[in-house]
Amino acid sequence: MKPAAFDYVRAQHLDEALDVLKQQGGEARVIAGGQSLLPMLNMRLAKPAVLVDVMGIPGFGEIRREGDAIVVPAGVRQAKLLARLGLATEQPLLAAALPWVGHYQTRARGTVCGSTAHADPSAEIPLCLVALDGEIRLRSRKKRRSLKASEFFTGMMVTDKAEDELIEAVAFPAAVKGAGYAFREVARRHGDFAIVACAAMATADAIHVAVGAVADRPERRSYPLLEGSALDDALNAFAWELDARDDIHATARLRRDLVRSLGREVIEEALRCRA
Ligand SMILES: Cc1cc2nc3c(=O)[nH]c(=O)nc-3n(C[C@H](O)[C@H](O)[C@H](O)COP(=O)(O)OP(=O)(O)OC[C@H]3O[C@@H](n4cnc5c(N)ncnc54)[C@H](O)[C@@H]3O)c2cc1C
Repeated sequence: MKPAAFDYVRAQHLDEALDVLKQQGGEARVIAGGQSLLPMLNMRLAKPAVLVDVMGIPGFGEIRREGDAIVVPAGVRQAKLLARLGLATEQPLLAAALPWVGHYQTRARGTVCGSTAHADPSAEIPLCLVALDGEIRLRSRKKRRSLKASEFFTGMMVTDKAEDELIEAVAFPAAVKGAGYAFREVARRHGDFAIVACAAMATADAIHVAVGAVADRPERRSYPLLEGSALDDALNAFAWELDARDDIHATARLRRDLVRSLGREVIEEALRCRA
């Protein structure tokens, strides 16, 4: 199928994009890498009157450090973040998770902020944001605001973003000194969306584990340094707390089993990787 007719604005600066979003209300959509939006347009699941392309906005293509945060603006493609020099030391979870985001070709076009805005519950980037307690920076003509990832993702492909807002950047906390990180996922084939994905961070006195593709959004839990059956019990409770879904790829029961087994694997690996 072909998309319904739309106007196209390639914004030359941020104010131009924000003006279009404000003037058009819900009729305008941001387009970044187009890897999720174009299929939706072609299937006519979305019929915006105007597409606002943010990829040419000055400054949107450069990753920067702000203290302990790795700030990734809206024009940064997933491949660029993955190729960042020293990423494996700067934030090992991102280095481990990004190769699982689609394929080489989709990462070369898709953006980090686009994946965040799309809010697929199986997507790896939203999972990393939740696991690391990262931040989403939103901007409209009226104001700037910043939300924790756990506040931003509110449901299945639903977020707290208003119609006149765009994601200006996301911020991932850089690695905490001495902490260990790990990521694992089960998918039918490499590059497919996850059936279950787990991310963990272990510090000297705490374990944080986050799970994607099970409920309608990624979820995170924090524990003291549990071991043995106490850790199994905690993961079992987490698996039951998640509103796991059946779909054509897996049953809710398989997903809960994977939360227990993958959850344990990532926690053990994160504990081992502590410096
Ligand atoms: C074959 C294939 C396999 C894939 N596999 C995976 C996978 O395994 N894991 C995974 O996570 N993803 C996967 N994807 C999706 C891919 O990662 C997309 O790149 C990503 O989901 C969207 O990023 P984008 O820049 O292409 O956004 P677009 O497609 O341009 O936009 C997606 C949505 O986000 C909105 N949006 C984009 N940028 C902003 C912004 N700055 N502010 C506000 N709203 C914005 C758009 O309006 C739209 O609603 C796959 C895609 C394909 C085609």
